Amino acid sequence: MNYLDIPTAYVVVGMLFLLGPASGWLVLSPGQSRTIVMWSLGGLLFGVGMLLIGARAHIPSFLSYPLAMGLSTLGLCMKADALSRELGKPWRMTFYAIGTLVHAAVFDAFRSLGLSDLRFAWGASATTVLFAVIAWLGFQLARTGPSPSARWLGLAYSLGAFFVGARVLGVLTGHIDPEVVSQSVASISSTVAGVLVSYVGTLGFVGMFLDRSRRHELEAVDQRARQEEATRLGAQIAQLDRVHVMNELSGSLAHELNQPLAAILTNAQLARHMAGRSGLLPGALIHMMNEIERDTQRASQMLLRIRNFVRKSSEDRSPVSMQRIVKEATDILAADLRRAKVSVSTELPGTPVMVMGEKLQLLQVLLNLMINAVQAMAQSEKREMECLLRVEQKDVLLVLRDHGPGFPVEHLDKIDAPFFTTKPDGMGLGLPIARSIVEQHGGKLHLANAPQGGARVEVKLPLLSSSQ
Ligand code: ADP
Repeated sequence: MNYLDIPTAYVVVGMLFLLGPASGWLVLSPGQSRTIVMWSLGGLLFGVGMLLIGARAHIPSFLSYPLAMGLSTLGLCMKADALSRELGKPWRMTFYAIGTLVHAAVFDAFRSLGLSDLRFAWGASATTVLFAVIAWLGFQLARTGPSPSARWLGLAYSLGAFFVGARVLGVLTGHIDPEVVSQSVASISSTVAGVLVSYVGTLGFVGMFLDRSRRHELEAVDQRARQEEATRLGAQIAQLDRVHVMNELSGSLAHELNQPLAAILTNAQLARHMAGRSGLLPGALIHMMNEIERDTQRASQMLLRIRNFVRKSSEDRSPVSMQRIVKEATDILAADLRRAKVSVSTELPGTPVMVMGEKLQLLQVLLNLMINAVQAMAQSEKREMECLLRVEQKDVLLVLRDHGPGFPVEHLDKIDAPFFTTKPDGMGLGLPIARSIVEQHGGKLHLANAPQGGARVEVKLPLLSSSQ
């Protein structure tokens, strides 16, 4: 085995471990984070440890045994900490720093007692375990990322764990020389594995960050597009809301004014008729009565025209996915929900549930109901809204539940009458608009309180049969 000088090979592996982190640091420097610093410093310490082992024949044993072991173990702990940080679970530095000191002291005690098998097994077992932990964290990151580079990192460190672990077994069973820098097959294979771990590991780590920044860029583009869409929809909904407010207003006005107008008209007609027959009234007065009659009729027609003008036709209907309505409503309200600290949990069927309708109008129904729920939970401890969607025979059922005080029971009969409100700045139009849209779509709106408290609103709409 003279073609590869093992101490020199260790020096080379050490240099690689030094160069790898340094170059990784440079590549990733624009996005310096604690993770990158920890990983790179860990790599540097591990590299110095390897160099000290490689120089074992030329330096005092204190440097090449306990210090080399301490540095390389601390380096691996820092690498593992860096990856764990990425997963949101940073390690306690003081714990592993103390652990490393204890580990190096025990290692040195075995050396002073001449127990070289135990010394090797003790030192290399920690390396095996830490390699395995780094590999496991790499695979975890590959899964959560998802990052193919993190998988390579995991594979490289698994290979490292396998070789060092096999060497520990070999030493404990008496098959392998416990001197780490001896000229043996085991030394050569673990040195080669060291080179691979160093290179593939560093590339995997750098790649993981590049994967992540690419993913962040894509997410940012996606987020921007969704925000723009939400703003556009929001503006359309606001416009639609004004139309509906006018609709409700004109409906109420027509209802309230038609009766007195009809009475004025009847009385004017009757008075003119009677005056004309008896000849009691002067012509000027009869003329004024004619005017009253004509103006009253004009007022009635005007009310009718306003109502017809604002009433939307059902021509723009098309198949609409109810899952999309739920998704878009939560997107539009995302900022309000965050501000009010309200979380939304949804339970939606996997296959699209379709109804025939006007998307914006249906969206407005859910927005009105959700805004009410958010406002109702302003003082609640539990600020959760549950939105459930399911198919019931020929209907689609959308249930929205909140954890506010519930509808005031004493007003339940008139709660969705136009202009009924219990809020100081409320308009009392949210529920009537929601009801009129749902009914225009052939559905039903049911308002109730959940047995455990909070409001429970059910929207039932006819299912578009092709969606089942
Ligand atoms: P506004 O929100 O302007 O008051 P709405 O028609 O949307 O008009 O609501 C009418 C009333 O119904 C509200 O003032 C409130 O008293 C009650 N209400 C609506 N939604 C809820 C809810 N989720 N929980 C409790 N009360 C509600």
